[in-house]
Amino acid sequence: MTPESVARLAREVADPALDLVILAEGNVSLSFSDLTLWIKGSGRAMAHAAASDFCEVRARVLVDAVEGTSWDGLDDVAIREHLDATRLDPDAIRPSTETFMHAWLMKHSGWKCVVHTHPTPVLSLLIREDAALWATRRFFPDEIVLTGPATAWVPYVAPGLPLAKAIREAALRFGAAIGEPPKTYWLQNHGLITGGKTPSEALSATLMAVKSARMLRDALASGAELRWLTDAEVAHIAGWPDEHFRQSALWEP
Ligand SMILES: [Zn+2]
Repeated sequence: MTPESVARLAREVADPALDLVILAEGNVSLSFSDLTLWIKGSGRAMAHAAASDFCEVRARVLVDAVEGTSWDGLDDVAIREHLDATRLDPDAIRPSTETFMHAWLMKHSGWKCVVHTHPTPVLSLLIREDAALWATRRFFPDEIVLTGPATAWVPYVAPGLPLAKAIREAALRFGAAIGEPPKTYWLQNHGLITGGKTPSEALSATLMAVKSARMLRDALASGAELRWLTDAEVAHIAGWPDEHFRQSALWEP
């Protein structure tokens, strides 16, 4: 993987047919080592992204900012200055304000790739008052394999460092309840996060999360009573080696 591969992923994510992002929405990141990651530049559109639309930043200082309190008293201007200072090349494009969550998610989940999007079908659910309930439901087996036994629910906060801290709290709550890190995150009134060890694993999770959201949106609109999988049915699929083997063939590098 090279910086060109992160630009290629961005262009794939921004395919209008997928309806995941428009304009400068969303961001993607890739890491080639434990020390740094490549992240989309602030305000850049992914549809025609080139390698120069990404910058390489030091991961450790960003993770510390999310986990610690040393940045908490800083105003937005100071946070932006500190964030810009994490670039390896000071002349590179300025990193996305969402870089914090990318760095923390990679460290927490062992991901090498993070995909953050604003898909219309997912937003249709995330603006519902009862959205948190639907994050805990699963309806079909492939949904469990690719997006996990449930989705981590992140209550709305402003983007940037506060959002990264809220994501951390949601991940820790999810881990205590489910016993593993989330594969997908719903950000209330905002969007979706998935990740993986490769771009195709992360993108596969996004596509499945969007398919599930479209299914659920349509089913809720029908007014019919829904039948979701029981906890035992979800646990069976989540721990079923055959199903995971079949799906892993999708995301080999
Ligand atoms: Zn966003």
